[in-house]
Amino acid sequence: MGSTKYIFVTGGVVSSLGKGIVAASLGRLLRARGAKVSIQKFDPYINVDPGTMSPFQHGEVFVTDDGAETDLDLGHYERFIDTNLTRLNNVTAGRIYQDVIAKERRGDYLGATVQTIPHITDEIKNRIMEATHQLSPDFLIIEVGGTVGDIEGLPFLEAIRQFRYDVGFKNTCFIHVTLVPYLKASGEVKTKPSQHSVNTLRSIGIQPDILVCRTERPLGKGERLKLAQFTNVAPEAVIESIDMPILYEVPLVLEKEGLATQVLERLNLTLPEPNLTSWEAMVQQVKQPVTNLKIALAGKYTGLSDAYLSVIEALKHAGYSEGASVEIRWINTEDCVDDETSAALLSGVDAIVVPGGFGNRGIEGKINAVKYARTHNIPFLGLCLGMQVSVIEYARNVAQLTRASSAEFEPKGDQPVVALMEDQKNLADKGGTMRLGQYPCHLLKNTKAAEAYGTDVVMERHRHRYEINNEYIDILTQAGLIFSGTSPDRSLMEIIELPNHPWFVACQFHPEFKSRPDNPHPLFKGLVKATVALKQKTQATGSASPAVSP
Ligand code: GLN
Repeated sequence: MGSTKYIFVTGGVVSSLGKGIVAASLGRLLRARGAKVSIQKFDPYINVDPGTMSPFQHGEVFVTDDGAETDLDLGHYERFIDTNLTRLNNVTAGRIYQDVIAKERRGDYLGATVQTIPHITDEIKNRIMEATHQLSPDFLIIEVGGTVGDIEGLPFLEAIRQFRYDVGFKNTCFIHVTLVPYLKASGEVKTKPSQHSVNTLRSIGIQPDILVCRTERPLGKGERLKLAQFTNVAPEAVIESIDMPILYEVPLVLEKEGLATQVLERLNLTLPEPNLTSWEAMVQQVKQPVTNLKIALAGKYTGLSDAYLSVIEALKHAGYSEGASVEIRWINTEDCVDDETSAALLSGVDAIVVPGGFGNRGIEGKINAVKYARTHNIPFLGLCLGMQVSVIEYARNVAQLTRASSAEFEPKGDQPVVALMEDQKNLADKGGTMRLGQYPCHLLKNTKAAEAYGTDVVMERHRHRYEINNEYIDILTQAGLIFSGTSPDRSLMEIIELPNHPWFVACQFHPEFKSRPDNPHPLFKGLVKATVALKQKTQATGSASPAVSP
């Protein structure tokens, strides 16, 4: 298509507007027209990356193939545009300042006074050019995090304002996403907050080309015209983005509203008609589940779906392909204090997932949840920490290592079946120092894992400091645990499973990051498939699955 076109997405009125979904949806619509798309997220906070931020505040940390710890919006981008992203796709203010200060210390600025303009803004623009050169997309969509009017967002907005002049008006398009609230008392949708938000943006020097209006009620013709008139946006470029119960339907709704057409018009481009057939077929599947599964998510951020965003999405994706809707049953593992309470909390669930995590809060409860799944033949998937606690559970209750634990929770324990990885031992910094990103994993033939993947080598993304302690592999193997995936040199255990169980599989990596709505991850698919099969069998025979001895 030639040189890269840039589409900037800003947000106004309130945070959590779903700008990321708008950016990701637009990406899908352009990709459906045959274009190569990448999406970059600018995060105006001072953390160098979100890797050290609490999921309570910031939701999950999304990990890329190349080991960057990034904002969860990158997960949406990957799922919508079906393209693996890199560390170039997430830029924080912290990273920009860190690099500018490093340059200043090296003397790169040759005695100049280092300032927000031009030094910080230039660094931001460099990041756009770096992504352009290394990823060479037809379209680079750039989402600026935060809300227009935030002090910390100003350098980013100034940088993109300048960028339009640097690369030319015909190569850039500005989209502003706002909220058009509905006032119940007067029964009207209100356009004033959007007008103010665009005014703020204009006072910084940016006139949006397209307005995307998040709304719970359809916008009338009059409201659209009013918005256009008072924000100086063409009436046809006022795009309604109505709340959708199905996330993956948003691109289809925005296509009908003409979002991509407006973008192409502003950029003076003609592309082929979009091919959304497979996406539409996936959305149809979402709408017609034949069964419903209750899947327990046994973690510590109960009810906080953003903290487990990719896990929940991956479960749903697997559900789509197996004709099942997935209902998450949140289990706070601090409440699973013994076999009885665990049984009470987990009875009636169709499957159990123990996700990743850090620290020892709720650990014993996680171990109890694993035991319940293992001894009651409940399909189970353990992710990262979920694999580590599964090994501890098996060691304690089957391999008779009764004091088995992880060095993470019991640094002085005498049966550390999970231990700190060798190369983690002398690290002082917490940020960006885990075993991160994609590594190969070899699968053992004739195992559930090999069958699910249908291949013998896979690449999966990691984020951990601890690993299964190789000193215990023999004892655990003799006790019946199967290590069905390992690093190529067999020094790191990557997947475990149990043979005589409908589906008991756990992995040291995070398969959830690679799941796509129209291409679910094999391990999630394996879990859901086994769960649906077991449910059908139980319904046919009218009996609950028998418990096996502990
Ligand atoms: N806390 C564990 C470790 O560092 C697991 C990490 C995770 O679940 N992502 O190894």
